[in-house]
Amino acid sequence: MKDIATIQRTKSILERHGFSFKKSLGQNFLIDLNILNKIVDAAELGEASGVLEIGPGIGSLTEQSAKRAKKVVALEIDQRLLPILEDTMSPYPHVHVIHGDALELDIQAIVEREFFSQGIEDISVVANLPYYVTTPIIMRLLESQIKFRSLVMMIQKEVAERIGAKPGTKAYGSLSIAIQYYAEANVSFIVPKSVFMPAPNVDSAVITLKMRPKPAVDVKDEAFFFEIARASFAQRRKTILNNLTNHLGKDKKMEIELLLGEAEIDPKRRGETLSLEEFARLADTILPLKN
Ligand code: SAM
Repeated sequence: MKDIATIQRTKSILERHGFSFKKSLGQNFLIDLNILNKIVDAAELGEASGVLEIGPGIGSLTEQSAKRAKKVVALEIDQRLLPILEDTMSPYPHVHVIHGDALELDIQAIVEREFFSQGIEDISVVANLPYYVTTPIIMRLLESQIKFRSLVMMIQKEVAERIGAKPGTKAYGSLSIAIQYYAEANVSFIVPKSVFMPAPNVDSAVITLKMRPKPAVDVKDEAFFFEIARASFAQRRKTILNNLTNHLGKDKKMEIELLLGEAEIDPKRRGETLSLEEFARLADTILPLKN
């Protein structure tokens, strides 16, 4: 039988099951084997690997992961896809589909039960993410503290560029900092709209996140570090002093200026020029001003 990710097979599966796409669930299915192979190549899966997939759809990517990995666990929100997956995944008994919302399911418990307790230690996330929830899903996976080896995910090109951005670039912002705190981020390759059915409105890219053994920087108060990074980009054209003053209180302007000096950061710089290390030093130094 042909692979799922061919136009012909995908069409025949959709027709046979009378499936109609739900735009609100970000349903754009991959129909290009070449791209799928590049995604699983980027994940460097081996015979002992476990794969966690978010949003299997009709199983195009799931099938390619299943051909290389020991076990694939896929979380799908759309109940209508469950009987379809039962059908398309029948040649792959080591694929387990779980019905639910990836933003609500207890992913830690799932990984523990489905992989770790079965001796599968090398776990990667491999997914073509639903674009309406890209950032919350990635943040949830990173904050879960689960020891994934890597996360290889298809996302919007613009978000991929922001995630992988370096200081001093236009795309660099609080999302780059939040993700690079937990992982080393690289845009693996850009993907044209034509490889999806239906074609999405935006261009896509595959991003690879390699989890760091410990966060990129040491901070006294993690939540405050993220808060300061967000506040520093609130108005990109403003200086770090003005953005921090707006956030922490106008009455604290002099103290903020003093502490910026103590952290060896010029108050006239813009947030987008600060590295993760500088944000960490800044957050630790102005911690006494936390509201
Ligand atoms: N993996 C398939 C592929 O590459 O062809 C489908 C990818 S499609 C972009 C996204 C999938 O995620 C859809 O099947 C959609 O129903 C599912 N989905 C959307 N929101 C979800 C959520 N919150 N939790 C789990 N799955 C979700």
